[in-house]
Amino acid sequence: MSLLWKIMLSTSVAIICLLAVAGWLVQNHFMRIAAVMLDEEVAASSRAYESLWSARAERLASVSLVLSRMSDVRAAFGTRDQTTIRDTASELWNSIAPSRTLFYVLEPGGAVVASLGSAEEIAPSFPLAAAAARFPGQATGFVIENGRLYQTVVTPVYVAAAQGSALLNVLVACFEVDATLAHELKQATGSDFVFFSRGRPIASTLPVSVPGDLTRREQVRIADSNYAQFVMPLADIAGRQVGELRILRSFQAADRRLATLRVQMVVIWMLAICLGLAGTYLLARRIVQPVRALERAAERIATGDYDAQVPVSSSDELGRLAESFNEMCASLRIARQELIRQERIATVGRLSTSIIHDLRNPLAAIYGGAEMLVDAELSADQVKKLASSIYGSSRRILAMLQELADTSRGHSRRREACRLRDVVLAACDSLADAAARPGVSLACDVSPEIELTLDRPSVERVFQNLIANAIDALPHGGHVRVSAESADHSVIVSVEDDGAGISSEVRPHLFEPFATAGKRHGMGLGLALSKRTILDHGGEIWADSTTGPGARFLIRLPA
Ligand code: ADP
Repeated sequence: MSLLWKIMLSTSVAIICLLAVAGWLVQNHFMRIAAVMLDEEVAASSRAYESLWSARAERLASVSLVLSRMSDVRAAFGTRDQTTIRDTASELWNSIAPSRTLFYVLEPGGAVVASLGSAEEIAPSFPLAAAAARFPGQATGFVIENGRLYQTVVTPVYVAAAQGSALLNVLVACFEVDATLAHELKQATGSDFVFFSRGRPIASTLPVSVPGDLTRREQVRIADSNYAQFVMPLADIAGRQVGELRILRSFQAADRRLATLRVQMVVIWMLAICLGLAGTYLLARRIVQPVRALERAAERIATGDYDAQVPVSSSDELGRLAESFNEMCASLRIARQELIRQERIATVGRLSTSIIHDLRNPLAAIYGGAEMLVDAELSADQVKKLASSIYGSSRRILAMLQELADTSRGHSRRREACRLRDVVLAACDSLADAAARPGVSLACDVSPEIELTLDRPSVERVFQNLIANAIDALPHGGHVRVSAESADHSVIVSVEDDGAGISSEVRPHLFEPFATAGKRHGMGLGLALSKRTILDHGGEIWADSTTGPGARFLIRLPA
């Protein structure tokens, strides 16, 4: 994953988490406020209900009191005649009593003498005994009759008697608590009202049926809707609870507002996320672009191109990093040039050592040949052969010196495609004199099809060293064989002899400089120089570790 995507991903995760937490807090806060507001509304409704209710009861009480105090009404009560009482009281009652109010004139014992309003239909049996405890004052309270709930005001009517006053009649004014009344209350307060008695709803303004076992908690759930609730007990004339009133306020409006708020919040979130991501993208790009430029420049340096430069487009940390990078490249260029110079000096030194070592063979050939020409009586053919050997050796010395001169001038050594067999045969030819000893046979078993790209003179000297060592190891004669076989992307060349083998004294340090054993004029440089040449070609050289007669050196060269 690219740096840009990592920054974008982490930022978007951070923004979304932040907005989710903020949204959760806002929603919770909103719901708390809504609950508190609904509680307050319900409490306000309960206060409104109480004042409405007490105004209604007071009105009933005052109408009853007026009737009980009017002399002609009292006189009519005295007749105990239904028609007389109606004629006297109904006109006044109808004009001042609230609608749907029932009115009864009772005897002190409780028997109904007369009734007004629509009271003929029902004749509730009122608990006068409880009301009598309040006489001569009025008594109010709820009454349950035939499953119906009534709010009742009981007023005593006294007449003057010999011993003070006597109870003439009892006036009972009441109205039924039904759905119509509940709706009137709802209109006045805005809340829903449910009157309960004996565990079942008697009057309700809710559009759904209300279960009888409704909880008394501040919040209730009725038919998938939440309500804030306020519970008020309903007491009868004696003060006993005969039911309860639940004032309810629906959360529907709050839920709708919350849904609207959620939609608004999601829209604002989306905008915030888009803006945040766009801002992050622009910022991250500003950071990533110089980093990419640095990356590309570093890749060029990795391929050896030290001229890479990155543009310095700002003065912030990235700008300073680019400046430092360019300075580092400049230092690397200088250091590299110095390294090349040092390397050239070292190469000249190494080559000198190598040439000093390798000059010995052609010089020995020239020396030996010249000595024979001077001392011995030779035939014309022998003279020609010796002259050609001296000529070949001189050419090799010249080539070596030219190589040394080229290297010291900084000319790189050219590699050329050449047949491996030709290189091996040239090495064998240069050692023909040494191999001419009786009993020594030199065989080249290399296929002419193997072609390799080589620094030919150096590799030829490697084979000269190995073959010369092998011939040296055969003082009493023997066989030297050079063979080669192609392997996986490389060629393995073997130089083996059946001489005395490598002495255990020199074996652990075989390819180290100055490791020599068993030779009078040995310098111990041949194998070390050969190893350096083969490593320069990307190959490797090793001596076969198997014990037994003879020695075997193996070279792997990349094909
Ligand atoms: P030098 O020949 O000048 O001693 P080299 O590095 O060519 O140096 O060889 C190191 C030593 O390895 C030799 O002195 C010799 O003891 C041993 N050696 C090399 N090639 C052979 C071989 N074919 N058989 C036995 N010993 C060998």
